[in-house]
Amino acid sequence: MTTHVPAAPQSPTYIYDLAGLAGSAAAIRSALPAGVELLYAMKANPDPGILRTLAPYVHGFEAASGGELRHLAEVLPGSAPAAFGGPGKTDPELAAGLAAEVRRFHVESPTELRRLGLLAQARGVVADVLLRVNLPVPVDGAVLVMGGRATPFGMSPEQARETARLDVPGVRVRGVHAHLGSGLSAPAAAAVARAVVDWAVAELDASEVNVGGGMAVDYTDPEARFDWVGYGSALDDLLSAYPGRTLRIEPGRAMTVHCGWYLTEVLDVKEAGGEWFVVVAGGTHHLRTPAAKQHSQPFTVLPRPDWAYPFARPVTGPGPVTIVGQLCTPKDVLARIPDGGGHLPAPGRIAVGDTIAFGMAGAYAWNISHRDFLMHDPPEFRTGRLTDLYH
Ligand SMILES: *Cc1c(COP(=O)(O)O)cnc(C)c1O
Repeated sequence: MTTHVPAAPQSPTYIYDLAGLAGSAAAIRSALPAGVELLYAMKANPDPGILRTLAPYVHGFEAASGGELRHLAEVLPGSAPAAFGGPGKTDPELAAGLAAEVRRFHVESPTELRRLGLLAQARGVVADVLLRVNLPVPVDGAVLVMGGRATPFGMSPEQARETARLDVPGVRVRGVHAHLGSGLSAPAAAAVARAVVDWAVAELDASEVNVGGGMAVDYTDPEARFDWVGYGSALDDLLSAYPGRTLRIEPGRAMTVHCGWYLTEVLDVKEAGGEWFVVVAGGTHHLRTPAAKQHSQPFTVLPRPDWAYPFARPVTGPGPVTIVGQLCTPKDVLARIPDGGGHLPAPGRIAVGDTIAFGMAGAYAWNISHRDFLMHDPPEFRTGRLTDLYH
């Protein structure tokens, strides 16, 4: 009798295609007019390789916590953060921002402005500030999610107007910051930019306006891209209407989501009540995106031809397919294919031992995951092109 020696499944692995990221960042930059400054919102993915790859193509990074300020200083020493935003900044965080010579503080309230002013005075410096404003901007007939309704982020237009009139030593208000929504198409993002700049100039005579991020990506179509060329030309029109003003954007997801893949091996395939369950190594504690957004993460199947076990290889059949991870919770779902038989990517079925490569895992993926739940090992990280690493 032969003894079967079990093969350890390959560890779940994130792959970042940094060469591809450099190419897409260069394309984004060249689609934008020269007068527009491009910041990367590092909360989307602060991976050191990603930050270093983006550095030559962006005007700087937007940090949203003291931790991100520290991380940026470690990864790119000597580069002052372009912006420090985010709700609920503590005094030590504001002081760290001043010490790091943050170029613009995005201030969320009159209280934060006064605290920043006191800390700046204590250091003998003046902090440059944009006031974060929530404008009600109608886009495609709907008023945007964060803008225009009660929100903990930023200030109402009335409050921003009053705050700009306060005499606070230690700060210099240079203009307006807004981040009014996410999932914006290029025409919607252009309409937001136009509305914010119109308001900022008319009401505060702002010399600088940061119109935020939120550019759309489409998880149902991994090949689709935000129309940077169309958006860039709309921003060019806006700059012509307001010559001499500085315009900034700070996208996160749309810059990095496509450069990342999460690869994991199929551990089990089983049928229950006419449905198929595919159990993979890892799960939403590595890739929380599908649980957070309640969607199916797009994926590709990389079949493994060999089969080492002395019994028939389990494989999906017709019927719905649900891909789950190793967590003891029904929420650990990575993808659901209601009509599995008809809608699985090639080769149209999933077998134990295959590798599944989940795409669009380059933003709000590993870094938003509850990595310690169940204490599984963390994933590995590699850089390269999926097609070069796995054939
Ligand atoms: C999260 C965030 C961004 C980036 O948003 P994306 O949807 O990733 O483009 C930009 N600005 C602010 C203030 C944010 O909170």
